[in-house]
Amino acid sequence: MHGYGFATRAIHHGYAPSEHQGALVPPIYQTATFTFASVAEGAARFAGETKGNVYTRLGNPTLALLEDRLASLEQGQAAVCFSSGMGAISSTLWTLLRPGDEIIADITLYGCTMAFLDHGLAEFGVRVRHLDLSDADALDGQLNERTRVVYLETPANPTMHLCDIAAIAAKLRGSQARLIVDNTYCTPYLQTPLALGADIVVHSATKYLSGHGDVMAGAVVCRDPEVAASIRMRGLKDFTGAVLSPHDASLVLRGLKTLGLRMDRHCANAHAIAQFLDRHPAVHKVAYPGLPGFPQHRLAQQQMRGMGGM
Ligand code: PLP
Repeated sequence: MHGYGFATRAIHHGYAPSEHQGALVPPIYQTATFTFASVAEGAARFAGETKGNVYTRLGNPTLALLEDRLASLEQGQAAVCFSSGMGAISSTLWTLLRPGDEIIADITLYGCTMAFLDHGLAEFGVRVRHLDLSDADALDGQLNERTRVVYLETPANPTMHLCDIAAIAAKLRGSQARLIVDNTYCTPYLQTPLALGADIVVHSATKYLSGHGDVMAGAVVCRDPEVAASIRMRGLKDFTGAVLSPHDASLVLRGLKTLGLRMDRHCANAHAIAQFLDRHPAVHKVAYPGLPGFPQHRLAQQQMRGMGGM
C-alpha cells in the first residue's frame, strides 16, 4: 500500500480480509506455539531453512501485521514489536552494544531509559557518555571507532528540548555509529526520523500509538531489515524475552486506526493550553514547541508536521 496516505495505511496496510474469511478486523492468533505437518518441516523451520511461524517469542501473524504497519508508517524497512517501550529500547541496545563499545546519549531522556544506560549498560562494560545534543555541533570531534550508537529523544521527555535529526545524522555519516531516535512524543504522524536520516526509531506504543491507556507495548523500526532481524533474534529472543502478546498487538492495531485524528486533536488542545498558560501571570515558563517564544520553534516547524500534545 505504498503511495497511499497515512490514515489509509494506518487502517489497512498489510491486511487483506479476503485472506481471512472476510474478517474486517484482523484475527488474533492467540497462540504460544505453532504446529508442523511433519518432524522434517518443524526441523527446517527451527533451523531457519524455511519460512513460517515457530513460536510466538520469535514471531506471530498478529505481531507481524502490526510490525508491517508500523514499518510503513515510519517509512522504515522492518519493525519488531515488544511488550513495552523499555523492552524495545533495552532489546535494541543489548543487541547493538558490546563491552568496550561506546554510546553517546543526549542529556535529557525519559528517566527509565537514563537508568538503563547509566545503571544497566554502564555496569556491563559499555561506555555511556551524555552530550547536549540539542546542539548538533556538540558531536564534533566526539565520535571514535568505539562509538556504535548515538541516542536521543526529540522532543525530549520531560524538558521538551529538540534535537536536529537531519544535522545529527549528517555528522554520523561515514562513522560506525547508528542514530537511534525515540519518536514516542511525535509518533510517525508528526515526525519520521528515518526519512531525516536516522537508522532506528524506538517507541513506547503504550502512549499515542495504542492511544487508549489499556496496553503496554513498544516497537523498533529500522532502515535496515538485517538490523531488525538481529534485534529480534538476539535482543528479543535471547536477551530480554520482552515479547508482545497477540491480544495486546490487536489493541495497538485498533489504536493506530485513529492515530491521525487523535494527534490532530492533541496538537490543537495542547496549543490552546500552552497559549493560556503562557499568558497566565502565575506561570513562570511554558515549554511547548508550538509557541513562537520556544527557543527551538523554527526547528520544530522544519522537523515536525505538528507541534504535539506535550
Ligand atoms: N520513551 C519515552 C519517551 C517514554 O515517555 C516512555 C515511558 O513513559 C518510554 C520510552 C518507556 O515506555 P514504556 O513505559 O512503554 O516501557
